[in-house]
Amino acid sequence: MPVLFENVTVVSAVSNDIHRTDETGIRNDGEMGVIRDAFVLVEGEKISYIGKEQPRDFSGERIDGRRKVLMPGLINAHTHLPMTAFRGFADDYDLQTWLYSYIFPAEDKLTAGSAAVFTDLAIAEMIASGTTSLTDMYFFSDTIAERVAESGIKANISRAVTFFDEDYDFHSDNRAGELVRLVEEWHGFDHGRIRIEASIHAEYTSNPKVWTAVSDYAASKGLRMQVHLSETRSEHERCIEKYGMTPAAVLARYGVFDVPASAAHCVWVDQNDIEILAQKCVSVVHNPVSNMKLASGIAPVTDMLTAGVNVALGTDGVSSNNSFDMFEEIKMASLAAKVRSLDPTAVKASQALIMATSGGAAAQGRRGECGMIREGMDADLILIDFDRPHLIPAHDIVSNLVYSARGSDVVMNMVRGRIIYKEGEFLTIDLEKVKREAEKAAGIFR
Ligand SMILES: [Zn+2]
Repeated sequence: MPVLFENVTVVSAVSNDIHRTDETGIRNDGEMGVIRDAFVLVEGEKISYIGKEQPRDFSGERIDGRRKVLMPGLINAHTHLPMTAFRGFADDYDLQTWLYSYIFPAEDKLTAGSAAVFTDLAIAEMIASGTTSLTDMYFFSDTIAERVAESGIKANISRAVTFFDEDYDFHSDNRAGELVRLVEEWHGFDHGRIRIEASIHAEYTSNPKVWTAVSDYAASKGLRMQVHLSETRSEHERCIEKYGMTPAAVLARYGVFDVPASAAHCVWVDQNDIEILAQKCVSVVHNPVSNMKLASGIAPVTDMLTAGVNVALGTDGVSSNNSFDMFEEIKMASLAAKVRSLDPTAVKASQALIMATSGGAAAQGRRGECGMIREGMDADLILIDFDRPHLIPAHDIVSNLVYSARGSDVVMNMVRGRIIYKEGEFLTIDLEKVKREAEKAAGIFR
């Protein structure tokens, strides 16, 4: 049934030609456009009309948009869904201690059944806080794909490859085998709602043979690539000791960025690394909350934007965040950049919002498909209730969205024209069941 949003305030990037440097060397970050009292028509999976005039002879579902903001659904461009299992499990440690002493041993206890429950829990939290598309890197990826398919959300899913021995054979590696099966079964599901990506977990968890083999496979299948890159100083410096090159330079040398790629974190990248990322059109996924919580540092986002690098936002796993609230991430992206540069004009509200919408779409290879409110694009839309004390007055809608809004202000989530969440009600997930099962399944880690 067609859906008409009436008298709504529309906020969206006005161009998806984002973060490119023009001939004069001046940064073109794009702007968020605001249209008040607008009508937005959704027919089938697409946005078919945006304008000030009410469409004539409409019959379908009408949604009253007064005192509400309609914006593109948020794109969480880096996460590990089943890690909701470890929310609050091992807080206040540095990354190496957290990962090796707590998370890796706990992950050994995860089963496909519990991964499914914690994935459902993750998706429910995401949907209710305005995320319409996500990028996941983990294992149990077929389980994740099944849960994503069921929930109605959009996702780019990868099976992370880690491999420590020197002898690497792609064809006998069971992780790579899982990736291959995932591609055969799920890549392009529901005409592209699910896409499978290749993934090298990180430079420090693999070696050049892995990088070449996985990149060659990605190129042969036309897949995108995901990596973790220079998240911590120790990881960055150890790579220089080992290879005489930074993680970005060494991965580029072995062809990892010859396929379209996104690199999570990039906290410790230097100027030369940023040039490599710009030249190879690698999207950086900035995870400010996780980076601050693990005291990894603050990524040089302003330098990346200046160099023409596309920057998207991610929450990372809930185990290092500890929520999926992208509004928190958006605000932190702006604040962290200001603190790092001691410049209050760094990453303005509009830029932070672009990172979470059209920037995220570009990082997912979905530019032109979603991330904006534009006729012909997928109707991946969220509605935000602006009739709340912390959103009044609204002198500047974009500022309020970035600095005052919360995930809990989202009252509707629509993916490809299908409403999957409305006023507290989940239309694709049995939340009560998921909550009880998650509580029960979490007992095994204690
Ligand atoms: Zn991560």
